[in-house]
Amino acid sequence: MRLVLIGAPGSGKGTQAKFLIEKYNIPQVSTGDLLRAAVAAQTPLGRQAKAVMDAGQLVPNDIVIGMIRERIMRPDAENGFIMDGFPRNLEQAEAMDTLLANLGRPIDAVLQINVDFDLLMQRMVGRLTCLSCGTLFNSFTNPPSIDSQCDNCGGTLHHRSDDNEETIDRRLRVYETHTQPLTAYYSNKGNLHAIDGQGTVEEVKKRIKSALRGMRSSRIKLQPVAQPPATKVVKTRPEVIRTQVNVKEKVAPRQKRREATAVNPVKRPKKTVSAAETAYRQQLKSLQDELKTVKSELREVTRTEKQLTREVEKNQAALEKLVEKEAGLK
Ligand code: AMP
Repeated sequence: MRLVLIGAPGSGKGTQAKFLIEKYNIPQVSTGDLLRAAVAAQTPLGRQAKAVMDAGQLVPNDIVIGMIRERIMRPDAENGFIMDGFPRNLEQAEAMDTLLANLGRPIDAVLQINVDFDLLMQRMVGRLTCLSCGTLFNSFTNPPSIDSQCDNCGGTLHHRSDDNEETIDRRLRVYETHTQPLTAYYSNKGNLHAIDGQGTVEEVKKRIKSALRGMRSSRIKLQPVAQPPATKVVKTRPEVIRTQVNVKEKVAPRQKRREATAVNPVKRPKKTVSAAETAYRQQLKSLQDELKTVKSELREVTRTEKQLTREVEKNQAALEKLVEKEAGLK
Protein backbone atom coordinates (compact mmCIF):
# COMPACT_ATOMS: atom_id res chain seq x y z
CA MET A 1 0.00 0.00 0.00
CA ARG A 2 1.45 3.36 -0.99
CA LEU A 3 -0.03 6.25 0.94
CA VAL A 4 0.63 9.97 1.05
CA LEU A 5 -0.28 12.08 4.07
CA ILE A 6 -0.64 15.76 3.42
CA GLY A 7 -1.63 18.35 5.94
CA ALA A 8 -0.34 21.52 7.54
CA PRO A 9 2.45 21.21 10.12
CA GLY A 10 0.96 19.88 13.35
CA SER A 11 -2.12 18.40 11.68
CA GLY A 12 -1.30 14.94 13.08
CA LYS A 13 0.30 13.26 10.05
CA GLY A 14 3.09 11.73 12.14
CA THR A 15 0.68 10.54 14.83
CA GLN A 16 -1.68 8.88 12.37
CA ALA A 17 1.21 7.39 10.42
CA LYS A 18 2.03 5.27 13.49
CA PHE A 19 -1.11 3.15 13.26
CA LEU A 20 -0.84 2.89 9.46
CA ILE A 21 2.69 1.46 9.87
CA GLU A 22 1.25 -1.39 11.93
CA LYS A 23 -1.88 -1.85 9.88
CA TYR A 24 -0.07 -2.28 6.56
CA ASN A 25 3.40 -3.26 7.81
CA ILE A 26 5.05 -0.53 5.75
CA PRO A 27 7.53 2.18 6.79
CA GLN A 28 6.77 5.84 7.40
CA VAL A 29 8.92 8.08 5.23
CA SER A 30 9.12 11.54 6.78
CA THR A 31 11.26 14.09 4.97
CA GLY A 32 11.21 16.22 8.13
CA ASP A 33 12.69 13.32 10.16
CA LEU A 34 15.26 12.52 7.47
CA LEU A 35 16.34 16.16 7.36
CA ARG A 36 16.49 16.45 11.16
CA ALA A 37 18.67 13.30 11.26
CA ALA A 38 21.02 14.89 8.70
CA VAL A 39 21.13 18.10 10.77
CA ALA A 40 21.90 16.16 13.96
CA ALA A 41 24.64 14.17 12.21
CA GLN A 42 26.02 17.46 10.83
CA THR A 43 26.36 16.06 7.33
CA PRO A 44 27.00 18.62 4.53
CA LEU A 45 23.32 18.24 3.53
CA GLY A 46 22.25 18.72 7.15
CA ARG A 47 24.32 21.89 7.51
CA GLN A 48 22.78 23.22 4.30
CA ALA A 49 19.22 22.37 5.41
CA LYS A 50 19.41 23.66 9.00
CA ALA A 51 19.15 27.39 8.27
CA VAL A 52 16.23 26.83 5.86
CA MET A 53 14.39 24.66 8.37
CA ASP A 54 14.94 27.11 11.22
CA ALA A 55 13.49 29.82 9.03
CA GLY A 56 10.38 27.68 8.38
CA GLN A 57 11.03 27.61 4.62
CA LEU A 58 11.14 24.65 2.26
CA VAL A 59 14.44 22.87 1.66
CA PRO A 60 15.32 22.92 -2.09
CA ASN A 61 13.40 20.39 -4.20
CA ASP A 62 16.45 18.60 -5.62
CA ILE A 63 17.63 17.75 -2.07
CA VAL A 64 14.33 16.29 -0.85
CA ILE A 65 13.51 14.56 -4.14
CA GLY A 66 16.96 12.93 -4.09
CA MET A 67 16.37 11.81 -0.50
CA ILE A 68 12.99 10.28 -1.41
CA ARG A 69 14.38 8.55 -4.50
CA GLU A 70 17.02 6.87 -2.38
CA ARG A 71 14.59 6.03 0.44
CA ILE A 72 11.90 4.31 -1.60
CA MET A 73 14.44 2.10 -3.35
CA ARG A 74 15.32 0.45 -0.03
CA PRO A 75 13.98 -3.09 0.40
CA ASP A 76 11.65 -2.19 3.29
CA ALA A 77 9.69 0.12 1.00
CA GLU A 78 9.14 -2.59 -1.60
CA ASN A 79 5.61 -3.33 -0.33
CA GLY A 80 4.71 0.30 0.16
CA PHE A 81 5.23 3.30 2.39
CA ILE A 82 3.51 6.20 4.11
CA MET A 83 4.83 9.52 2.86
CA ASP A 84 4.70 12.05 5.66
CA GLY A 85 5.55 15.63 4.73
CA PHE A 86 6.35 14.82 1.11
CA PRO A 87 5.38 16.07 -1.43
CA ARG A 88 5.08 19.65 -0.28
CA ASN A 89 4.70 21.36 -3.64
CA LEU A 90 3.65 20.54 -7.21
CA GLU A 91 7.18 19.94 -8.47
CA GLN A 92 7.77 17.34 -5.75
CA ALA A 93 4.40 15.68 -6.47
CA GLU A 94 5.18 15.40 -10.18
CA ALA A 95 8.68 14.09 -9.51
CA MET A 96 7.28 11.42 -7.19
CA ASP A 97 4.61 10.40 -9.73
CA THR A 98 7.25 9.98 -12.45
CA LEU A 99 9.50 8.02 -10.14
CA LEU A 100 6.70 5.68 -9.05
CA ALA A 101 5.31 5.31 -12.57
CA ASN A 102 8.74 4.12 -13.71
CA LEU A 103 8.71 1.55 -10.93
CA GLY A 104 5.14 0.49 -11.79
CA ARG A 105 4.04 1.30 -8.24
CA PRO A 106 1.55 4.18 -8.27
CA ILE A 107 0.18 5.95 -5.20
CA ASP A 108 -2.92 4.20 -3.85
CA ALA A 109 -4.38 7.01 -1.77
CA VAL A 110 -3.65 10.54 -0.62
CA LEU A 111 -5.04 11.47 2.79
CA GLN A 112 -5.33 15.16 3.42
CA ILE A 113 -5.73 15.91 7.14
CA ASN A 114 -7.49 19.24 7.60
CA VAL A 115 -7.22 21.21 10.85
CA ASP A 116 -8.08 24.79 11.65
CA PHE A 117 -4.93 26.99 11.67
CA ASP A 118 -5.63 28.47 15.15
CA LEU A 119 -5.78 24.99 16.63
CA LEU A 120 -2.54 24.08 14.84
CA MET A 121 -0.73 27.00 16.42
CA GLN A 122 -1.82 25.83 19.90
CA ARG A 123 -0.84 22.24 19.14
CA MET A 124 2.64 23.12 17.89
CA VAL A 125 3.65 25.77 20.40
CA GLY A 126 3.14 23.20 23.16
CA ARG A 127 4.39 20.14 21.24
CA LEU A 128 6.87 17.89 23.07
CA THR A 129 8.31 14.75 21.46
CA CYS A 130 10.01 11.89 23.29
CA LEU A 131 13.51 11.48 21.87
CA SER A 132 13.49 7.73 22.64
CA CYS A 133 10.06 6.42 21.62
CA GLY A 134 8.52 9.30 19.66
CA THR A 135 5.44 9.68 21.92
CA LEU A 136 3.91 13.13 21.61
CA PHE A 137 2.81 15.35 24.51
CA ASN A 138 1.50 18.88 24.66
CA SER A 139 2.44 21.17 27.51
CA PHE A 140 -1.07 22.76 27.40
CA THR A 141 -3.47 19.99 26.42
CA ASN A 142 -1.65 16.75 27.27
CA PRO A 143 1.26 17.47 29.62
CA PRO A 144 3.58 14.68 30.85
CA SER A 145 3.28 13.65 34.53
CA ILE A 146 6.90 14.68 35.19
CA ASP A 147 8.32 17.72 33.42
CA SER A 148 10.46 16.87 30.36
CA GLN A 149 10.10 13.13 30.93
CA CYS A 150 8.14 10.67 28.80
CA ASP A 151 5.29 8.85 30.62
CA ASN A 152 5.69 5.96 28.24
CA CYS A 153 9.41 5.13 28.45
CA GLY A 154 10.99 7.73 30.74
CA GLY A 155 12.91 9.24 27.79
CA THR A 156 13.74 12.94 27.49
CA LEU A 157 11.09 15.18 25.96
CA HIS A 158 12.20 17.61 23.29
CA HIS A 159 10.64 20.82 22.00
CA ARG A 160 11.48 21.37 18.32
CA SER A 161 13.42 24.57 17.59
CA ASP A 162 11.07 25.40 14.71
CA ASP A 163 7.97 25.01 16.92
CA ASN A 164 7.93 28.68 17.99
CA GLU A 165 5.16 31.10 17.15
CA GLU A 166 7.05 33.10 14.52
CA THR A 167 8.36 30.07 12.62
CA ILE A 168 5.05 28.22 12.91
CA ASP A 169 3.29 31.20 11.38
CA ARG A 170 5.74 31.16 8.46
CA ARG A 171 5.42 27.37 8.03
CA LEU A 172 1.63 27.68 7.90
CA ARG A 173 1.89 30.36 5.23
CA VAL A 174 4.34 28.23 3.25
CA TYR A 175 1.82 25.37 3.50
CA GLU A 176 -0.99 27.57 2.22
CA THR A 177 1.02 28.83 -0.75
CA HIS A 178 2.95 25.74 -1.83
CA THR A 179 1.26 22.63 -0.43
CA GLN A 180 -2.43 23.45 -0.58
CA PRO A 181 -2.43 23.42 -4.45
CA LEU A 182 -1.80 19.68 -4.15
CA THR A 183 -5.48 19.29 -3.16
CA ALA A 184 -6.55 20.08 -6.72
CA TYR A 185 -3.69 18.05 -8.20
CA TYR A 186 -4.64 14.83 -6.38
CA SER A 187 -8.35 15.51 -6.57
CA ASN A 188 -8.03 15.56 -10.40
CA LYS A 189 -6.24 12.24 -10.23
CA GLY A 190 -9.16 10.85 -8.20
CA ASN A 191 -7.21 9.51 -5.23
CA LEU A 192 -7.66 12.29 -2.66
CA HIS A 193 -9.45 11.62 0.64
CA ALA A 194 -10.17 14.70 2.78
CA ILE A 195 -10.05 13.82 6.48
CA ASP A 196 -11.33 16.04 9.25
CA GLY A 197 -8.28 16.20 11.51
CA GLN A 198 -10.05 17.79 14.48
CA GLY A 199 -11.04 15.79 17.54
CA THR A 200 -9.17 13.08 19.40
CA VAL A 201 -6.46 10.90 17.86
CA GLU A 202 -8.89 7.96 17.99
CA GLU A 203 -11.61 9.89 16.18
CA VAL A 204 -9.27 10.90 13.36
CA LYS A 205 -7.96 7.34 13.16
CA LYS A 206 -11.52 6.04 12.68
CA ARG A 207 -12.09 8.51 9.83
CA ILE A 208 -8.89 7.40 8.12
CA LYS A 209 -9.80 3.75 8.55
CA SER A 210 -13.19 4.28 6.99
CA ALA A 211 -11.63 6.22 4.06
CA LEU A 212 -9.25 3.32 3.41
CA ARG A 213 -11.78 0.54 3.97
CA GLY A 214 -11.66 -2.04 1.21
CA MET A 215 -8.61 -0.51 -0.45
CA ARG A 216 -5.75 -2.61 -1.62
CA SER A 217 -2.47 -2.01 -3.35
CA SER A 218 -2.97 -1.08 -7.00
CA ARG A 219 0.00 -2.80 -8.59
CA ILE A 220 -2.57 -4.83 -10.48
CA LYS A 221 -6.06 -3.45 -10.52
CA LEU A 222 -8.70 -6.07 -9.82
CA GLN A 223 -12.41 -6.06 -10.52
CA PRO A 224 -14.69 -6.48 -7.51
CA VAL A 225 -14.83 -10.15 -6.60
CA ALA A 226 -17.54 -11.84 -8.63
CA GLN A 227 -18.77 -15.26 -7.64
CA PRO A 228 -18.69 -17.99 -10.26
CA PRO A 229 -22.19 -18.47 -11.68
CA ALA A 230 -24.10 -21.38 -10.22
CA THR A 231 -25.15 -22.68 -13.62
CA LYS A 232 -25.93 -26.34 -13.88
CA VAL A 233 -23.95 -28.15 -16.54
CA VAL A 234 -26.42 -30.48 -18.18
CA LYS A 235 -24.60 -33.40 -19.67
CA THR A 236 -26.28 -34.62 -22.79
CA ARG A 237 -25.18 -37.64 -24.66
CA PRO A 238 -24.18 -36.94 -28.24
CA GLU A 239 -26.75 -38.25 -30.57
CA VAL A 240 -25.26 -40.96 -32.77
CA ILE A 241 -27.19 -42.42 -35.60
CA ARG A 242 -25.89 -45.84 -36.40
CA THR A 243 -25.54 -46.88 -39.98
CA GLN A 244 -25.27 -50.29 -41.45
CA VAL A 245 -21.78 -51.12 -42.63
CA ASN A 246 -21.23 -53.85 -45.11
CA VAL A 247 -18.86 -56.11 -43.19
CA LYS A 248 -17.77 -57.72 -46.39
CA GLU A 249 -16.17 -54.45 -47.52
CA LYS A 250 -12.61 -54.19 -46.26
CA VAL A 251 -12.56 -50.75 -44.65
CA ALA A 252 -9.88 -49.70 -42.20
CA PRO A 253 -11.41 -48.93 -38.76
CA ARG A 254 -10.24 -45.27 -38.65
CA GLN A 255 -11.51 -44.58 -42.14
CA LYS A 256 -14.75 -46.31 -41.19
CA ARG A 257 -15.23 -43.94 -38.25
CA ARG A 258 -14.41 -40.89 -40.36
CA GLU A 259 -16.98 -41.87 -42.94
CA ALA A 260 -19.61 -42.51 -40.32
CA THR A 261 -19.17 -39.12 -38.65
CA ALA A 262 -19.14 -37.36 -42.01
CA VAL A 263 -22.59 -38.68 -42.71
CA ASN A 264 -23.87 -38.28 -39.14
CA PRO A 265 -21.77 -35.59 -37.45
CA VAL A 266 -21.52 -35.96 -33.67
CA LYS A 267 -23.48 -33.19 -32.02
CA ARG A 268 -21.56 -31.80 -29.02
CA PRO A 269 -23.54 -30.10 -26.23
CA LYS A 270 -23.22 -26.31 -26.49
CA LYS A 271 -21.67 -24.71 -23.39
CA THR A 272 -22.82 -21.14 -22.82
CA VAL A 273 -20.35 -18.90 -20.95
CA SER A 274 -22.01 -16.07 -19.07
CA ALA A 275 -20.47 -12.58 -18.69
CA ALA A 276 -20.06 -13.21 -14.95
CA GLU A 277 -18.07 -16.36 -15.63
CA THR A 278 -15.82 -14.52 -18.11
CA ALA A 279 -15.21 -11.79 -15.52
CA TYR A 280 -14.47 -14.42 -12.90
CA ARG A 281 -11.96 -16.14 -15.17
CA GLN A 282 -10.23 -12.83 -15.94
CA GLN A 283 -10.04 -12.08 -12.26
CA LEU A 284 -8.61 -15.48 -11.52
CA LYS A 285 -5.96 -14.89 -14.19
CA SER A 286 -5.07 -11.48 -12.63
CA LEU A 287 -4.73 -13.12 -9.23
CA GLN A 288 -2.50 -15.84 -10.66
CA ASP A 289 -0.34 -13.17 -12.35
CA GLU A 290 -0.16 -11.20 -9.11
CA LEU A 291 0.84 -14.32 -7.20
CA LYS A 292 3.60 -14.94 -9.75
CA THR A 293 4.90 -11.36 -9.31
CA VAL A 294 4.83 -11.61 -5.52
CA LYS A 295 6.65 -14.95 -5.60
CA SER A 296 9.38 -13.56 -7.82
CA GLU A 297 9.71 -10.51 -5.55
CA LEU A 298 9.98 -12.79 -2.56
CA ARG A 299 12.78 -14.72 -4.26
CA GLU A 300 14.58 -11.41 -4.94
CA VAL A 301 14.24 -10.35 -1.29
CA THR A 302 15.55 -13.71 -0.09
CA ARG A 303 18.51 -13.38 -2.45
CA THR A 304 19.29 -9.86 -1.17
CA GLU A 305 18.95 -11.01 2.44
CA LYS A 306 21.40 -13.86 1.87
CA GLN A 307 23.85 -11.50 0.20
CA LEU A 308 23.59 -9.03 3.07
CA THR A 309 24.04 -11.80 5.66
CA ARG A 310 27.19 -12.96 3.86
CA GLU A 311 28.54 -9.39 3.86
CA VAL A 312 27.77 -8.94 7.56
CA GLU A 313 29.54 -12.20 8.37
CA LYS A 314 32.55 -11.22 6.26
CA ASN A 315 32.76 -7.82 7.96
CA GLN A 316 32.35 -9.37 11.37
CA ALA A 317 35.20 -11.81 10.71
CA ALA A 318 37.42 -8.96 9.48
CA LEU A 319 36.53 -6.94 12.57
CA GLU A 320 37.35 -9.85 14.87
CA LYS A 321 40.73 -10.26 13.16
CA LEU A 322 41.42 -6.55 13.60
CA VAL A 323 40.51 -6.69 17.28
CA GLU A 324 42.82 -9.71 17.76
CA LYS A 325 45.63 -7.93 15.92
CA GLU A 326 45.11 -4.82 18.02
CA ALA A 327 45.18 -6.90 21.23
CA GLY A 328 48.39 -8.57 20.04
CA LEU A 329 50.00 -5.19 19.41
CA LYS A 330 49.18 -4.05 22.92
P1 AMP B 1 8.14 18.62 9.19
O1 AMP B 1 8.76 17.81 10.27
O2 AMP B 1 7.50 17.78 8.14
O3 AMP B 1 7.24 19.70 9.70
O4 AMP B 1 9.37 19.36 8.44
C1 AMP B 1 10.23 20.26 9.10
C2 AMP B 1 10.94 21.13 8.09
O5 AMP B 1 11.71 20.32 7.21
C3 AMP B 1 10.03 21.96 7.20
O6 AMP B 1 9.62 23.17 7.78
C4 AMP B 1 10.94 22.18 5.99
O7 AMP B 1 11.90 23.20 6.27
C5 AMP B 1 11.69 20.87 5.89
N1 AMP B 1 10.98 19.90 5.01
C6 AMP B 1 10.37 18.74 5.37
N2 AMP B 1 9.84 18.12 4.31
C7 AMP B 1 10.10 18.90 3.25
C8 AMP B 1 9.79 18.81 1.85
N3 AMP B 1 9.09 17.79 1.35
N4 AMP B 1 10.23 19.81 1.05
C9 AMP B 1 10.95 20.83 1.53
N5 AMP B 1 11.26 20.99 2.83
C10 AMP B 1 10.84 20.03 3.68
